[in-house]
This record gives sequence, structure tokens and C-alpha cells, in this order.
Amino acid sequence: MSSVSRHINTTRLIRTYNASTLLQTLYRHGSCSRTQLAKLTGMSPATITRITAQLMEQGIVLEGKVGKSTGGRKPVYLHIDHSKLYIASLKLLRDDCRAALLDLKGNILEKKHLPWGEGPEQFLQQAVAALQAMFAHAGVKDQQILGVGVAISGICHPGEGKVIRSVNLDWVEVPVAELLGSALQVPIFIENDANACALAELWLGTARDAANSLYLKTEEGAGAGIISNKALLNGSHYMTGEIGHIPLIPQGQRCRCGQRGCLEPYVYFGDVQARYADKTGRQVTREQFLDLIRSGDGAALELVQETADALALACAHWSTLLDLDVITIGGFWGTLQNEVIKRCQDYCAATAKQSGLPCTVTITGSSFKNEDADLLGAAGLVIDRWFAPLSVPFRR
Ligand SMILES: [Zn+2]
Repeated sequence: MSSVSRHINTTRLIRTYNASTLLQTLYRHGSCSRTQLAKLTGMSPATITRITAQLMEQGIVLEGKVGKSTGGRKPVYLHIDHSKLYIASLKLLRDDCRAALLDLKGNILEKKHLPWGEGPEQFLQQAVAALQAMFAHAGVKDQQILGVGVAISGICHPGEGKVIRSVNLDWVEVPVAELLGSALQVPIFIENDANACALAELWLGTARDAANSLYLKTEEGAGAGIISNKALLNGSHYMTGEIGHIPLIPQGQRCRCGQRGCLEPYVYFGDVQARYADKTGRQVTREQFLDLIRSGDGAALELVQETADALALACAHWSTLLDLDVITIGGFWGTLQNEVIKRCQDYCAATAKQSGLPCTVTITGSSFKNEDADLLGAAGLVIDRWFAPLSVPFRR
């Protein structure tokens, strides 16, 4: 039995097409009357009445304030009871593994650092124990948890719930969903970390109103998650967005992969730190590097400009190739509004103008603190599986 099909009544109801559509509408709009829901979803008033009654019986939807009458009965506004449902998330990067419990709005209620284990089985057992302890501490029952989202640095097969290959974790063909699902009676969803972050921005952050967006993960490496028409692109081999080692800049910086000009040495913070040390003989932390930028240190500004130019080039290519509304640059580089974000935006506008195209892309930093981005990404994955329009199947 799969980890998904083992789940129980409340979640089975939510998964039905009509309930999911209705919840998605309430999730997006906050609160709606039954008449508004009928208009927004295209469902008949009778169907809306039946589905809302079922959702209210399960305690997922509540009646709230009463509106003014426009002739007939006064409308009653419905909303999701955010205290009834929770999401758990796991962030798996070798240097930083964490577990979190979140509410449906993406607020982190509790988070825990997870020590790295000897192998996948041992590590995932620790993760299960940490999650169970968090659920117990918060007094949350299994049936209130929509799922555990897992954001993993590596190539993942979301449908089979496994890691195909993670260089970062040194894992090959690890059935993560099966290992977690055998101990936790909740659905398990796994996804590549950049893809998960793209979903978090779609549901909770900068790309909420965008149909087409791209999230660029930086700092630990370079990877992109792409949302096309509000759905995540995975590609034929689950490698969409693996852009870190595709040479972009002729005769650019040497990369650890042996090539020159990949995006990775420009955005991987350790490589930039190493180049700063080569230039100045000084080892600096991220905070010190930021202070140096703010104080106008020449070597630091030169390196930032080099990274900003590489990112600007990448943004111009991607925004046109995919006709994007939003590009979100995650991590440290996305926090440099003038030095990086504005430079990328200006370059996209300039290249679009020269090629006779309108510049319609907005480039922005992430909505989330960097250490929380993957945990919110994993939560975004769960939200996406439950609340995305079911024109796509529940298990993609
Ligand atoms: Zn490379």
C-alpha cells in the first residue's frame, strides 16, 4: 500500500475534485460566500452547498461573518479552519538537515535541527523520531497532518517517492517516501530542493500571482525550479533546472566540474569566498563579506558585480525562453537589491529593448529567510499536492 493511499477520511474528502477546487478557492481568496464560491469555481449552488456541508462536518471549513443582504438571504462567509490542518516538512542538505511543523499559512510552529546519520535508513529513522516528537509536543494527531514534504538536494522521482541521485547527500536510489511512510501514517511527498522552493514561492511568496515563474537556488550551488502555468516542470528525466554546470560565460571562472563559466562558481558562496581570499589574502564569513560590500570594499564589490553579471545573463535567457512573469533569486545574492536584483532587472530590460520585445519579467529576492526556504519549500510541495487544481492527477 502506498504512503498516500494509507491516509484517512478527512484527507480522502479533500482529495475529491470538488472539495479540492473549493478549498483551493478558499485558500487563495481567504473567505467567500457560497454564491461567490459558485461563481469562482463554476460549480452549481447545490454542489457548493453539499461540499461545504461535508467540509464543515469534517471541521475543515467554518462559517464566519455574515454579509449584507442584496435582496435575498444574508450571505455567510466561509473560511478554512487553519488550526485544524498541519504540514510537516524536512529539509535534507548534507550540511543542514531540519524538520519543521507548519500551519496551512506556512507559519513555522516548531523546527528542529537533525544530526546527520550514517546512512539513509539511520538518518530517516532519526527524522521520523523528530517529527513524532514535534507532533506530540504540539498535540497534533496524524489525521490533522496533510503530509510530510521533503526537499532534497538532488535528482528526485516524486511519483515513486525516491531520490534518484544526490551528490550532496551521497545517496543513490533511496526510497525516501517508503522509508518514512512505513513509520509515519501520513502521505509523504518528495521533491528536489529548488523545485520545492519554487512551489513555496508560488503558494506563499513572490510568485503567488504569477502563472510562469522560476526560482533560482544559490549559495550551496545553482539549481532552478520552474513553474509553468502554475504547475511545476519536472521534465522527462526529473532534471529540469539542473543548470549549475552548463557553461554560460565563455572563458569564465573555472568550476570544480572541470569546465569554465558555469553558473555554480559565481553563486556558490564558498567559491566566491575563496576568490576573495585569493585577491586579498583574507578569509571572510558571509556577514563580513556583506559588511565589506556595504563599506564599499573594492575586491568585494568586484566579486559581487561578477556574480550579478552572470545572474543577469542567465535571467535574460530564461525570462525570454520561458516567457516568465517572475524570477526569484534565493539566498544571499537575492538580498542584494541594488548590486544584484536591480542589475539583473536592468539587463533584462535593456536586452529586451534591443531585441524589440517588451520586458515583462520581475526579478526579486525570496520572501523567505534563507535557512527556512527549503522547509517552506517542502511545505509548499504538500500545499501544491492538496490544493492545486486537479486537472493534474493527485500523484504526479
Ligand atoms: Zn561546472
